[in-house]
Amino acid sequence: MLKTQLKLLLFAFFTLLLFQNFMCVTSDSKEKLNNDQNKESTKVSSPVKDSIQNKPNTQKMDSTSNKFPNLEKDAFKLHYDAIVIDTHNDILMPVFLEGADLTQENAGTQSDMVKWKKGGLDVQVFSIYVPERYKSNHFKYVMKLIDKLEQTAADYPDKFFLTSDYNELTNALGQGKFCGLMGAEGGNMIEGSMENLETLYSRGVRYLGLTWNTSNAIGVSAQDETERGKKGGLTEFGVRVVQRMDELGMLIDVSHLGETAFWDVINTSKNPIIASHSCVYSLSPHYRNLTDDQIKAIAKSGGYIGVNFYCKFLDPTASTNQVQSIHSKYKHDLKSIEEQDGDDMVKFNEDRYEYLADNKMRGGTSIDKLIEHIDYIVKLVGVDYVGLGSDFDGGVYTPNELYDATCYPIITKKLVEKGYSEQDIRKILGLNFLRVFKQVCGK
Ligand SMILES: [Zn+2]
Repeated sequence: MLKTQLKLLLFAFFTLLLFQNFMCVTSDSKEKLNNDQNKESTKVSSPVKDSIQNKPNTQKMDSTSNKFPNLEKDAFKLHYDAIVIDTHNDILMPVFLEGADLTQENAGTQSDMVKWKKGGLDVQVFSIYVPERYKSNHFKYVMKLIDKLEQTAADYPDKFFLTSDYNELTNALGQGKFCGLMGAEGGNMIEGSMENLETLYSRGVRYLGLTWNTSNAIGVSAQDETERGKKGGLTEFGVRVVQRMDELGMLIDVSHLGETAFWDVINTSKNPIIASHSCVYSLSPHYRNLTDDQIKAIAKSGGYIGVNFYCKFLDPTASTNQVQSIHSKYKHDLKSIEEQDGDDMVKFNEDRYEYLADNKMRGGTSIDKLIEHIDYIVKLVGVDYVGLGSDFDGGVYTPNELYDATCYPIITKKLVEKGYSEQDIRKILGLNFLRVFKQVCGK
């Protein structure tokens, strides 16, 4: 009898082990240049807490008045009151490839609907991205990805509103709903076909990153131009793609694009240009970052730059290993504070901020670097052209204090400490992108 029980136990143990291995398949590393992989699993740990929806804000359109005269005291209240938009996130990769659940709290992902609610995020632009290994069936894969996201929106109408329309978006924000937009990353997915571009638009995709790290029929990527000396900018087809995107009302995303192609875009497009997830080259010389001239050209077009949270783009000296261990410590230590504060997100943020100030860690990269990049853009071109493009779940290691998507409020607090006004903070958190989205896509 004992033997049978032992056998059963062993069987259960090995089945569990196999299942865990299946769940731990690592994602295609996107932004990482070295071979370190995100080894965290994507196990589902708890359901969406409806109570988190009872955060302090419900009306999201009252954005022009100064509601909080004492910002030092009310930084976190401002955060939950403001419209917060993130213009680049790769959660669909772990969802599609590893079985992560968008609607649940996943132990191994940086973002999901539970974390976004806690972090006060109102709009997530989902990156529609095809991993390199699916090179042969790009467009088919993209259609499936969009189907999956649409199905999630249909299954959870109370929690998630997926749209491509400016008026629908602002109405939903007014009702306090969490909203999703779609942006595509890597023009190779249209497989050299204008018809596929138009299908992308008709399916609701509202920006297209013309290249990812690899060049394609549209143009030359930043990585190919810088690391492989590849010449050329936009191809003839690329010029026609840009013109067609202008006509359709689709945002042109220049993150990942080579500099020659960038200037071709500036000379071709009549619309504001965006970089959905890029940082400042002058502060951190990496080919994925934007030079001062590029930042000025984007601002001149009336465009937008979502600052990427990846520590290697923010700070060339950052150690990803140190960041990983700091994040583990923070997440572990903060669990009890979160439990103790329950659903009071303002109180939790105050306690978390105090904990982070008392437990500063050496190594990694501080959130102050991210603030430096935002501040640099503001000083160079003004406050109207910058926002947040985290790149969460795109294989990026983020600054020490920004260990996952619950941490957006810390950025608001830091901007307050830096002396930013309520209106300027609202612009950075979401209104800048909303303005460009309205201008280009809101026809
Ligand atoms: Zn990217």
